Amino acid sequence: ICWSTRGGWHRPRVQPYGPISLDPAAAVLHYGQEIFEGIKAYRHADGSIHTFRPEQNARRLQRSARRLALPELPVEYFLQSLRELIAVDGDWVPSGEDQSLYLRPFMFAKEAFLGVRPAEKVAYYVIASPAGAYFKGGVQPVTIWLSEDYARAGKGGTGAAKTGGNYAASLLPQAEAYENGCDQVVFLDQDRNVEELGGMNVVFVRKDGTLVTPHSPSILEGITRDSILQLAEDRGHAVERRAVSLDEWREGVASGDIVEVFACGTAAVVTPIGTLKGKGFEDAQPSGTLALELRQQLTDIQYGRAEDTHGWLVRLDG
Ligand code: PMP
Repeated sequence: ICWSTRGGWHRPRVQPYGPISLDPAAAVLHYGQEIFEGIKAYRHADGSIHTFRPEQNARRLQRSARRLALPELPVEYFLQSLRELIAVDGDWVPSGEDQSLYLRPFMFAKEAFLGVRPAEKVAYYVIASPAGAYFKGGVQPVTIWLSEDYARAGKGGTGAAKTGGNYAASLLPQAEAYENGCDQVVFLDQDRNVEELGGMNVVFVRKDGTLVTPHSPSILEGITRDSILQLAEDRGHAVERRAVSLDEWREGVASGDIVEVFACGTAAVVTPIGTLKGKGFEDAQPSGTLALELRQQLTDIQYGRAEDTHGWLVRLDG
């Protein structure tokens, strides 16, 4: 779909996958004016195709659009774009355990000019790619690297928006994590509180059963995290969304008050954190069963094996 200040949203169409042409002066190439989403389509045992809480992704895309001075795509257009893609490419939704079709809606400034201002011509696309199990051979605990020198977002910046620049900022720390034998980076926010991983949110489980998760103005509000926390609340767990300092984390683990630490996001669903490493320390993290139980409960809903009591699924085919 295209958008312009004069014409609004227009020209919705499905076209074969392939390169797109852009003017070398297109604003997105110079100023990074772009946003995106990540969402999956799941095939149920009866063959039907469903997605999970897509209106949440649509609203997050709208919030990202506001921050990046891009036009807000109406929720109904977002849903329609997923349905139309599935209408032609539904056969690409795999069946089987942990298999899905990953959908990537994105919007960028395509107007050609060199001054710095919001573009008046924008394009919105959805592409898709089959996704297998994130972890081969079962869910593996990840080792994470504390990034003390770099942040992915700053106060008043674009951290809460899903925009390429945040991910560009996390590439170098991610390389540092690999060099230190870690899989993922954990970022701190401007107040040196724990924020999130490069592409996942973090949740702590306390001995009394309370789930605690970082809240900050620059965090990317994960839809997986929100869902997992609702499932935990259904089971009677208390949930706290608040600032979590690095000291609270490390001391909580040392004293036994924190009994489980996990990460969650659309790609990996739920992943226990096995080790936290930083400059001069390496803390093994406690492991429990709650993360994997919640993971099972969530995927049972997504794959149609359990009742969708919250009404989270939206059928995309038929
Ligand atoms: N934080 C960041 C920085 C992310 O990129 C993602 C993935 N979208 C998440 C958290 C988790 O969000 P969700 O559960 O909606 O995939």
